[in-house]
Amino acid sequence: MAVVLVTGGNRGIGLAIARRFAAAGDAVAVTYRDTPPEGPFLPVRCDVTDLDQVESAYATVEKELGPVEVLVANAGIVRDRLMAVMSQEDFDVVLDTNLTGVFRVTRRALRNMLRQRRGRVVLVSSTAGLSGSPGQTNYAAAKAGLVGLARSLAREVGGRGITVNVLAPGWVSTDMTAGMSEADRAASAAEVPLGRFGTPEEVAEVAYFLGSPAAAYVTGAVVPVDGGLGMGH
Ligand code: NDP
Repeated sequence: MAVVLVTGGNRGIGLAIARRFAAAGDAVAVTYRDTPPEGPFLPVRCDVTDLDQVESAYATVEKELGPVEVLVANAGIVRDRLMAVMSQEDFDVVLDTNLTGVFRVTRRALRNMLRQRRGRVVLVSSTAGLSGSPGQTNYAAAKAGLVGLARSLAREVGGRGITVNVLAPGWVSTDMTAGMSEADRAASAAEVPLGRFGTPEEVAEVAYFLGSPAAAYVTGAVVPVDGGLGMGH
């Protein structure tokens, strides 16, 4: 049994990941901002853009469950707009949440992982960060940044038994993609070799593997869960 923290675990992919770890018998804490999820989790309020909230969320998890052994940094947002008309604020908030937010929660997790000489860090990126995506320069920059962050960190902490990997989902049916028109959805699905959007549960299976003892010799990897959209990239 491991102590697992999933950021943005109150809905979508994060909730599916939290459920998967809980089903395996792990002790799971999830962050939420407004609405805690139903389920066998410890809900902790945390906005990843706020360092004090990150600190107090960890303090709560450590008090209630123990030190975090598996971190799934999943919280993320989109503010899509073509770059020529993208506001500075839309760029900044996406970077602050999707990249700096991951730095905040991961750095805090390392404190105990380094001491315990074990740990699993799974960062949720996106195919957009690997292939680019029009309208998503902010999002893609942040998600690509996670790859460099993970691979650098994997080199820093590998000797302490800590693995750091990146999960790169493609199109997944969640609130994040719910606003797409039927036509856009069909066109996007048509580009996927498997011909459809993925489910949060399909992403969760791979997140679980990367966070589990079975992935002991996997680090610095970028693992696509995209129906073949990126063909391994
Ligand atoms: P959702 O929009 O369904 O959920 C996003 C989650 O992130 C929510 O739990 C939300 O919490 C949380 N969150 C957002 N901002 C913050 C913040 N500042 N602090 C703490 N939590 C925050 O998205 P998905 O489940 O689809 O996405 C999960 C991850 O997967 C994201 O990183 C996303 O970029 C990535 N991804 C998604 C894809 C898709 O097609 N759906 C494809 C590729 C990657 P709250 O409820 O409080 O808003």
